[in-house]
Amino acid sequence: MIGCAVAWRLSGTAARVTLIEAAHDLCEGASKGNTGIATSGGDCHPGTLELELVRRSSPGWEALCARLDTPFHRIGTLAVALSEEDEQRLPELLRDAQDTGAAAEVVTGDQARALEPLISEGARAALHFPDDGIIDSIRLTIGYAELAARNGVEVLRGAPVRSLARDGDRIVAVTAGDRRVATRSVVNAAGVEADTISRLAGGEEFRTWPRQGQYWLFDRELGGRFRKVVGGVPTPVTRGIYCVPTTNRSLLLGPTAVDREDRTDRAVDAETLDHVFDAAQRLVPSIGREHAIKTFASNRPASDPTYRIAVDAAVANLVHAAGIRSTGVSSSPAVAEMVRGLLEGLGLPVGDQRPDAVTELEPLPRLLGHPSPEQLFARDPRYGQVICACEQVTTAEIAAAHGMAVPPTSLEGVRKRTRATGGRCQGAFCLSGVSFLHSLHAGRRPQGIAVSEPDATLGVGADDA
Ligand SMILES: Cc1cc2nc3c(=O)[nH]c(=O)nc-3n(C[C@H](O)[C@H](O)[C@H](O)COP(=O)(O)OP(=O)(O)OC[C@H]3O[C@@H](n4cnc5c(N)ncnc54)[C@H](O)[C@@H]3O)c2cc1C
Repeated sequence: MIGCAVAWRLSGTAARVTLIEAAHDLCEGASKGNTGIATSGGDCHPGTLELELVRRSSPGWEALCARLDTPFHRIGTLAVALSEEDEQRLPELLRDAQDTGAAAEVVTGDQARALEPLISEGARAALHFPDDGIIDSIRLTIGYAELAARNGVEVLRGAPVRSLARDGDRIVAVTAGDRRVATRSVVNAAGVEADTISRLAGGEEFRTWPRQGQYWLFDRELGGRFRKVVGGVPTPVTRGIYCVPTTNRSLLLGPTAVDREDRTDRAVDAETLDHVFDAAQRLVPSIGREHAIKTFASNRPASDPTYRIAVDAAVANLVHAAGIRSTGVSSSPAVAEMVRGLLEGLGLPVGDQRPDAVTELEPLPRLLGHPSPEQLFARDPRYGQVICACEQVTTAEIAAAHGMAVPPTSLEGVRKRTRATGGRCQGAFCLSGVSFLHSLHAGRRPQGIAVSEPDATLGVGADDA
């Protein structure tokens, strides 16, 4: 996400930008599997760069998301006190929250239940953050990249950075996949691999590591009933488990936060998932496992310190945007702006907006939740052809996704752009139809259709390479 946000921010300036992604598609790292809360900062620590960047980003979400065709709803969070001990901590937490500048209030148990009728009868009080929002972080990441590409940013996917050539204290070229890109400046936004990139560049030594979070995903039947994000009372060690209605009305329970070693490990385990479920059910007793769709894990890019956003001490034209561990969705517009400022300080032509720059994406109409579907049918009869019943994704939307400046190259890419296969059935009913359409639009024979990375095919026949 951070790399895409930076590319978006620079794309309207006179700079020539190349966005380099190791994976087959954008948004395969932490930005794909997170809680999707755009925090207003009440849970951040005063005096930190994290808080500053979150606070700068927070007021602008409605306007930015409208421009990036990204769902966002400012529904607020309730941190619910279930025990006397939790309740006693609320005044102190309120003072901390007020120090951040975020809107916050303590409400009684009855007031909390009026705000969110699903929470437990046992709720004694709650801390309410009315300005927190929920956001579709996948659409945001794709939106940043799509607008960047429309402004001329070259997007290289499936292109892992392998080496960075130096001339003195400056990087002069980046070798990524089979391309060599000459450069005046490099932004290191490689998430949990940011330490590797710095090492390849001969830059500062630091360590990044995965902090894993595990989740349950529940269906719209349950998620659609939520009005608020519901969490417990944070402790000095953890923000705890949340019940988070998503922008497409499903429900996330999670995440956990455990430091790991293996950067590729996204496995879940039953014991952790039981803990997540039990913690969520204490907050909202009506949650039942029959609504579960799937479980998954994702890795935060942890580092010490977090929010390492600065010019490298040894490499004069390397800017790190690294260690953006837990709030990178919420801070991404301000991180991008800060990186732009650092690049301007290095003499890059990123000061002014080009007058011809595209500043917003035309919203792609979607059938799900559309106020007047008949208008869509009149505009394009393919809106009447529903291919993914759970998410009501039509052949019109799948065609539009393939017409994007950064189109899908896999079924996972189709899901990220349209939500097809992302609903209750997780593709059990619609995968063949979505695969067929992807094969038509992407010009691939069935054997060559990738689920995600190019070699992860559906397993139909031989490779058509
Ligand atoms: C469990 C969990 C819950 C979270 N909840 C929230 C939340 O509610 N709100 C919030 O604001 N934030 C949240 N976050 C944090 C947020 O997701 C991250 O801060 C943000 O996604 C970090 O973005 P990034 O671009 O730095 O990292 P990533 O999204 O991981 O992107 C790094 C990219 O670099 C690429 N890369 C790596 N190595 C190379 C290489 N050699 N060459 C080329 N490319 C390379 C990767 O493929 C990847 O695409 C959460 C994170 C997790 C994991």
